[in-house]
Amino acid sequence: MNHDRSHALFSRARQLLPGGVNSPVRAFKSVGGEPFFVQRADGAYLYDVDGNRYIDYVGSWGPMIVGHNHPAVREAVQKAIADGLSFGAPCPTEVTMAETITRLVPSCEMVRMVNSGTEATLSAIRLARGATGRAKIVKFEGCYHGHGDSFLVKAGSGALTFGVPTSPGVPKALADLTLTLPYNDFDAATALFEESGAEIAGLIIEPVVGNANCIPPREGYLQHLRELCTRHGALLIFDEVMTGFRVALGGAQAHYGVVPDLTTFGKIIGGGMPVGAYGGRRELMSQVAPAGPVYQAGTLSGNPVAMAAGLAMLELVQAPGFHARLAATTARLCEGLEAAAHEAGVAVTTNRVGAMFGLFFTSEKVETYAQATACDTAAFNRFFHAMLGRGVFLAPSAYEAGFVSSAHDDAVVDATLEAAREAFKVAAA
Ligand code: PLP
Repeated sequence: MNHDRSHALFSRARQLLPGGVNSPVRAFKSVGGEPFFVQRADGAYLYDVDGNRYIDYVGSWGPMIVGHNHPAVREAVQKAIADGLSFGAPCPTEVTMAETITRLVPSCEMVRMVNSGTEATLSAIRLARGATGRAKIVKFEGCYHGHGDSFLVKAGSGALTFGVPTSPGVPKALADLTLTLPYNDFDAATALFEESGAEIAGLIIEPVVGNANCIPPREGYLQHLRELCTRHGALLIFDEVMTGFRVALGGAQAHYGVVPDLTTFGKIIGGGMPVGAYGGRRELMSQVAPAGPVYQAGTLSGNPVAMAAGLAMLELVQAPGFHARLAATTARLCEGLEAAAHEAGVAVTTNRVGAMFGLFFTSEKVETYAQATACDTAAFNRFFHAMLGRGVFLAPSAYEAGFVSSAHDDAVVDATLEAAREAFKVAAA
């Protein structure tokens, strides 16, 4: 593959953008090499500036659940743009969006739109602190909730890749208010709440971890956390920025049958535009300004173009059988990858929930963050580059979940598996 144009762009970018990118994982630091620059995207494919085509399992890190450049989303955006880009005053589609989210996710009786997942999680913990009058929050090792100061403590995603669990710039006094737990450990959670329960405003969790590869909750784990929060008067916050509308139409809370107090969203509800949201019980959300005293605002929040894109996307994911089809595609992909690895004599296991999956270079079933970080990252990096060279783009880090879209049909999965059979041989070397 020729990458001359991407290489030239990255050289220019590095002069002016930190690391040459606007979000760390894009820089390929963890896997080595240089990123390609995308010219356009369509369906299951990305096309780079040198004319190379890649099957895409990143999907803009989640939003592209119906594939890239879906005509219905594109047309909704084009229609909205004709009426103006931003009003700074209420618009009708904000109401439709709120009606749609609250109908699909019943634990959210009210919602507030924001502009990113980070804003959603920051706002949710402010609300948890405001509503409970307590200061401490609990998060899990390897979970990523955006780059808010309180969350950059034992975080996942890019923060994990770079081995910077606590970023410089986060005041110790603030980090001290973030308590961390090992994910999927029942006893550790019980012990923490017994010790500090009365000080905990809220516990935030990725109900399926997608930022330390892909780790589903153990049977009964989310229920256990629900009970602990209820018993100790802390709010349970599900960060469904990744899982929302993906692992099931109603998100992970519907899939596992656990009702959180607050939920954060992003990705799919923007259809590719910069959007986030948080929602929860009416009594809690009524405490957000201007209805209540917990301040939170946004100049571009509820932006009409973003609402149009998100509504078009949410319409598409409501098609009967949509999530079952995605889950079947993901299963076919994961089973095929395991078989291909086995053929090549490489120890690999996979995890999957709905249209989210993880590939681990280990012979163990991965259920904990410690196991995820003990996998053979050098083998993953060899596999990543071998796949990329064969036209398949996986997330450029061993610590990110993969995403399947409805544009990933059987032919796309077959082409992926054909590439994987060769790439695992390279990974084995
Ligand atoms: N929460 C989760 C679970 C995420 O995966 C992410 C981003 O990947 C965020 C929050 C932050 O979202 P954003 O990047 O839109 O700020």
